[in-house]
Amino acid sequence: MGERPLVWIPRPVHDDGLALLRDHADVRLGYGDAATTFDDIAGQVAGILLRTARVDGAMMRRAPALTIIARHGVGLDTVDLDTAEQRGIVVTTTPTANTQSVAEHTIALLLAVRRGIGVAVRNEGDTRAAIQGRELSGSTLGLIGFGRIASRVAHIARQGFGMRVLAYDPLLPDAGIAAAGAEPAPLDRVLAQSDAVSLHVPLTERTRHLIGLAELLSMPKGGVVINTSRGGTVDEDALLSALRQGHLAGAGLDVTVLEPLPADHPLRTEPSVIITPHVGAQTAEAMRRMATDAAGKIIEHLA
Ligand code: NAD
Repeated sequence: MGERPLVWIPRPVHDDGLALLRDHADVRLGYGDAATTFDDIAGQVAGILLRTARVDGAMMRRAPALTIIARHGVGLDTVDLDTAEQRGIVVTTTPTANTQSVAEHTIALLLAVRRGIGVAVRNEGDTRAAIQGRELSGSTLGLIGFGRIASRVAHIARQGFGMRVLAYDPLLPDAGIAAAGAEPAPLDRVLAQSDAVSLHVPLTERTRHLIGLAELLSMPKGGVVINTSRGGTVDEDALLSALRQGHLAGAGLDVTVLEPLPADHPLRTEPSVIITPHVGAQTAEAMRRMATDAAGKIIEHLA
């Protein structure tokens, strides 16, 4: 046992990831009855499987044997990347583990908004007569960003619902977009021709407020916006304005600038807006894949 590398897991992860790691390493948990703190094992720890905790530069400097931090998920904001790089510590993520889950959540929001499910579930007054949904079949979906999640969404939308799919992603070759089953198009054409626009870009200086009032008003009247990417890619004030003007028919948001979204936020009182609290990746399957993918990266690296 003493020969096996020591791996620390500060917060609970799926049992299958734990079991996989335990076959190859001496695993210490930062939770539960026999919780091990970082300071307990800083001198020997070789790897960290990191879900929600933070690893800062001071921790890395106290851990001479540490060579890998495997993130459970994709965000890297909880790791001091500069110090990791200086110390030659490999930092990995699990970029494909939640792709299908987020794609399915995107479709769930799209269906819910187009069918007025939010209003129907609240069922206030004469809801039945007031609701007239729209089918997805034959309508056009515009994807902004065409990476892993968007290409899964495109596949489901085309194969499952017979939608036409347009995609704007200036960082990808048109041929690649076409090969994955969407029509490549510039942003203005995607907006002008899409009944539903769905965002799948990272939040960067270039994508912050990528969709503002002018963009929303350039969509066909009655269009809907879905965002499962990051809050801030859509200007929320502009979104409210386009909804209140009656230009947009609704929106489905899994991400907002403020998370959790305050109870008195104006987006919450818009009847045609469906908000979920950043749960796009919260499935049993994604949780399991994130844990086993991260464990696999540690095992591969330490071998
Ligand atoms: P990805 O890296 O595979 O795809 C992102 C795409 O955006 C890339 O193809 C890139 O070329 C494109 N892009 C970058 N800048 C652009 C710009 N200015 N205009 C248009 N396209 C641009 O990422 P992914 O795994 O598909 O994730 C997409 C988004 O979903 C990310 O924002 C990610 O943070 C978010 N996400 C959300 C959840 C959730 O729980 N809701 C879970 C996972 C990921």
